Amino acid sequence: MDQVGIIAPETRPSPWGVAAKPAVQCSLVEVMSEELARKLQLEEESHVFTEEVLSEDGPFLNADNIDTSSDEVLAQMLQMQFDKEYDAQLLREEKKFNGDSKVSISFENYRKVHPSEENDSSEDEVDWQDTRHDPYKAVKPTPTPKKGFVGKGKDITTKHDEVVCGRKNTARMENFAPEFQVGDGIVMDLKLSNQVFNALKQHSISEQRKSARLHDKKEVSTAEKVVDPKTRLLLYKMVNSGVLETINGCVSTGKESVVFHASGGSMEDQEIPAECAIKVFKTTLNEFKNRDKYIKDDYRFKDRFSKLNPRKIIRMWAEKEMHNLKRIHKAGIPCPEVVLLKKHVLVMSFIGKDQIPAPTLKEAKLGLEESKQAYYQVLSMMKQLYDQCNLVHADLSEYNMMWHEGKVWLIDVSQSVEPTHPHGLEFLYRDCRNVSQFFQKAGVSETPHARELFNIVTGLNIASDNQVDFMAEIEALEKVNEDHVQMHGKKVSLYQEDDDDDGPPRIYDK
Ligand code: ATP
Ligand code: MN
Repeated sequence: MDQVGIIAPETRPSPWGVAAKPAVQCSLVEVMSEELARKLQLEEESHVFTEEVLSEDGPFLNADNIDTSSDEVLAQMLQMQFDKEYDAQLLREEKKFNGDSKVSISFENYRKVHPSEENDSSEDEVDWQDTRHDPYKAVKPTPTPKKGFVGKGKDITTKHDEVVCGRKNTARMENFAPEFQVGDGIVMDLKLSNQVFNALKQHSISEQRKSARLHDKKEVSTAEKVVDPKTRLLLYKMVNSGVLETINGCVSTGKESVVFHASGGSMEDQEIPAECAIKVFKTTLNEFKNRDKYIKDDYRFKDRFSKLNPRKIIRMWAEKEMHNLKRIHKAGIPCPEVVLLKKHVLVMSFIGKDQIPAPTLKEAKLGLEESKQAYYQVLSMMKQLYDQCNLVHADLSEYNMMWHEGKVWLIDVSQSVEPTHPHGLEFLYRDCRNVSQFFQKAGVSETPHARELFNIVTGLNIASDNQVDFMAEIEALEKVNEDHVQMHGKKVSLYQEDDDDDGPPRIYDK
């Protein structure tokens, strides 16, 4: 978006401005600005993360505090508000018109915001996922309704209808490269003709190629920014649709993600926690490249992996985290509850209070008694994870467990795999080593060493008394499983099947 001149709110009073503290407001322009992205980048580089949580700058993004000093932004906001109210009125009229009649007539074609735009559908993108049902199946984009007869045969709308088509074209602009500034047409009721759309598309492609050639280095650095324009728009839409009330600030900037705190809003048929965490998976591939092995060999994702482009692989990480969190939550293990997933952005319940995240086990200063309690919780959690969820965390350590309300909470499960993953048992052994070392250091004398912990969790009695032999046995077990898969196309039944209905049916050779 072009920089829009900012006129101080005092000189341009507006009904939308919050008069009390104009100086600390965070504007839409700012949210959309490169400066913010740069600031995030700096924060990331200086590793000042958690201190930023309660920044005095007020909410990061809030429907009420959007700067109204720009006519352009104001016009867009008003248009959106108007469209929303118009559609609500239309819905009421439709209900009234149809009454109890068995045959109903849809007014959908008269809506200002076409359902296909509302759902943000576009041909090659995964859409809002219905996180309450099968997370594996992306909800099919609401199809553009077949435009048959509407009304009394007077108004026939076809899919070639100028308005419908124009709106679709505008929505499709979102698929252009993030660097290609498409402006805010998407949120306005902008209609692009096929001709204009095609010209823009062509331009976008050639620009992309040009900048890839000329600014190879610069390209990498822009890709590093998590909150790129597309992500900002996603977040903005979440606030605008009321799912979230405000996005308050950054909780953490990790290697693979940036986590924000948000105040929950409301959704028609789903309760949203008062405090939410938004995990934005980085759209840069650098970090994910070395994590290929977690997902590529995970048979749940195997078929899809090869067909995906990099953008989609990142979305798959977010999807994987959501899916794993749901399984873990279902088993009753304390972990964030999934609210919704959109593309590479996962919204979940916030572990902590009043915008302050609970400390990780690393940060929490636990006394000996509490450490002991924590150890037993972690032990039973690991067993439950293995037995009931059929999962291995694969990055379990004091950094990925939080201490909240006297309980250990599990987070960061995007890399978690099933134990039959070709490296599943190695990952588990590494988890055991981290856990064992941490609690031994904390002085919990009951803590067994890693090998013993591994045997307790898996129930596999590996007898070796040194790490080298133990590892060799683990690898041999993994190999047996792999060979079995090679030969029969199925996995061995080392592991218990759970009744989880979240994924495609899993095949066990009983
Ligand atoms: P890292 O690379 O640092 O491990 P990551 O990208 O893997 O980070 P997470 O470990 O999931 O991301 O989250 C990073 C941090 O964000 C956590 O240590 C925690 O402080 C915070 N966080 C993540 N999820 C939540 C949540 N649901 N509630 C509160 N805080 C959270
Ligand atoms: Mn982490």
